[in-house]
Amino acid sequence: MPVQRPRRRGRLRFCPRCKKLMIPKIVNGRKVLVCPNCGYTIELEDDDAYKFGAPKKKSPKDKIIVVDANQPPPTATVLKGQVRCPRCGHDEILFWMMQTRAADEPPTRFYRCLKCGYSWREYD
Ligand SMILES: [Zn+2]
Ligand SMILES: [Zn+2]
Repeated sequence: MPVQRPRRRGRLRFCPRCKKLMIPKIVNGRKVLVCPNCGYTIELEDDDAYKFGAPKKKSPKDKIIVVDANQPPPTATVLKGQVRCPRCGHDEILFWMMQTRAADEPPTRFYRCLKCGYSWREYD
C-alpha cells in the first residue's frame, strides 16, 4: 500500500480513493490517517498537528460550552463532505468544526445530514 507523506499540518484530509473524511489514529505506534470506508492509510509526520491519545488532565474549571449541534455557529466555516448518516444512510453531509473544550484541544467536528437533517458530532 502506498504511503503518502502529507505536507500541510492538521487539516482535514479526504481519502484519495473514496473521498471519505480520514480519521487520525495510532497504528502500531505510528500516527496515521485512516479512511473509515476503505482503510486507505496516510502516514503522518511526528510533528503533525493532530493530537493523539494521552488526554490532558482536565481541571473542573474548564468551561463546558453547551452547543446546539443542529446549527453551526456564525463563525464556523461549513463545508460539504461525504460521511454516512447514521440515521438514513445518505452520504452527503455538511460539517463544521467548533472548539467545545479547552483551547489546546482539537475542535469537535459536527455533521448534519443533507437529506434528513440529522445532526451528530464526532468525538476523538
Ligand atoms: Zn477510502
Ligand atoms: Zn440522514
